[in-house]
Amino acid sequence: MRDITPITVARGDGIGPEITDAVLYVMNAAGARLKVEEVPAGEMVYRRGYAGGLDESGWGSIRRTRVFLKGPITTPQGYGNKSLNVTARTTLGLFANVRPCVSYHPYVRTRHPRMDVVIIRENEEDLYAGIEHRQTDDVIQSVKLISRPGSERIVRYAFDYARSNHRQKVTAFVKDNVMKMTDGLFLKVFYEVATEYPEIKADHLIVDIGAARLADQPERFDVIVTLNLYGDIVSDIAAQITGSVGLAGSANIGDTCAMFEAIHGSAPMIAGQGIANPSGLLMAAVMMLVHIGQGDAAALIHNAWLKAIEDGVHTADIFSRGLSRVRAGTMAFAQAVVERLGQMPVTLPSVGYATSHPAYYDRVPRLSPRSIAHKEIVGVDVFLQWSGGTPADLAGLIGPLATEALDLSSISNRSQRVWPEGNADVFCTDHWRCRFVARHGTAKHADIVDLLGRLAEAGIDFTQTENLCNFDGKAGYSTPG
Ligand code: NAD
Repeated sequence: MRDITPITVARGDGIGPEITDAVLYVMNAAGARLKVEEVPAGEMVYRRGYAGGLDESGWGSIRRTRVFLKGPITTPQGYGNKSLNVTARTTLGLFANVRPCVSYHPYVRTRHPRMDVVIIRENEEDLYAGIEHRQTDDVIQSVKLISRPGSERIVRYAFDYARSNHRQKVTAFVKDNVMKMTDGLFLKVFYEVATEYPEIKADHLIVDIGAARLADQPERFDVIVTLNLYGDIVSDIAAQITGSVGLAGSANIGDTCAMFEAIHGSAPMIAGQGIANPSGLLMAAVMMLVHIGQGDAAALIHNAWLKAIEDGVHTADIFSRGLSRVRAGTMAFAQAVVERLGQMPVTLPSVGYATSHPAYYDRVPRLSPRSIAHKEIVGVDVFLQWSGGTPADLAGLIGPLATEALDLSSISNRSQRVWPEGNADVFCTDHWRCRFVARHGTAKHADIVDLLGRLAEAGIDFTQTENLCNFDGKAGYSTPG
């Protein structure tokens, strides 16, 4: 008797319960060796006061099984509650989001018949860290965090994935022409790691033209690796142009846990009608079976699913006169897949999966040895709220508060320099960045505290400080425009 793998399943909200039923039915019929632990998640759990959408029993089950098949969740509105997806990704360390986006021409209508792209999205960092502060009446800040180890993990994962899946090329999407430090770091790490995979072509595109080309000519892409926010947007574009967002599954992979879900949401408008397409969650389940080493069941389901699509058994979202033959509801579609277990698609390429646990899914990432740079404080940016007049007035107010160690060098507003010699056309909010630089080359923390003490005594409403540091003599900060 082969091993039975325990998994955690949450049906989720909206169409979640009906598509989960369909998927469990297919997996069971395909002989997947699973022990399902069902846990509540989503709206009903939020209503019971759990801000992350899962209660202790849910988290306990996932920590035990380490494999989570999740139906879509209706994201709670307003402050306080947090998206279960975001919470699960960060709490369980699911750093890689993997979304294969494939077109099924000529059976599903698409303008892109030769599309087979895998988007690998960094899942834990970037603006999704959710570090946000209202700093003044006018201005709210969201912090974009990019780390070297975080970048290296996702980039290495993308190249490992490409190598294991016989892919030819990995393309990075970044915006390093604007975010020179954050996106610049990601790109630098990308090309460093790429040298270890000489058989795989590595290139990059600025995300805006990259997204445009992906939407226009997806067949030019193979594997795309990118930051969290860009990946979120780009992977939805890619999924949509295959023909339907209802077709794609996604895997969220960490060192010790993995979560599998459809890429679509809870589709409340069609919930309870039995018409939702279960294919996205089914493809997620296929990825899950591969992950737990049940590639035999995964291939059986995937090939039967391809055959059902070829035979024109389609749910309403992809039903198209001329292409489709049977308009199936959720459960009828699942039955059509079960009836074809053991059959292969005729025109669409069939799939095969290894029956052992694939290395690229759970390898403890090899990170390059860290080099610790020599760090020196060379100044401080003091952000403050003020609406008392012109930039020159502000300079006149805080300039005299400079200390023996730190001198006022510039003032900017929304990153545009407004003093000295600022552009008079710059529209100014109540949020100012006042840059103080070390008079004697370097400064100490105590010098910054001293400066802040003087500002506080003078009634200046400072809201944030950022130390200006050099790392091995190189500036670790941007300069105002
Ligand atoms: P959605 O993906 O639920 O729906 C978008 C459109 O696609 C709708 O017209 C819907 O009817 C259709 N659709 C989606 N899945 C389908 C399927 N399987 N079969 C047939 N048609 C399908 O996006 P939305 O309406 O923006 O979001 C609804 C809720 O889901 C929101 O609360 C959102 O935050 C949440 N959401 C959750 C997840 C997740 O749990 N991973 C992902 C995206 C959105």
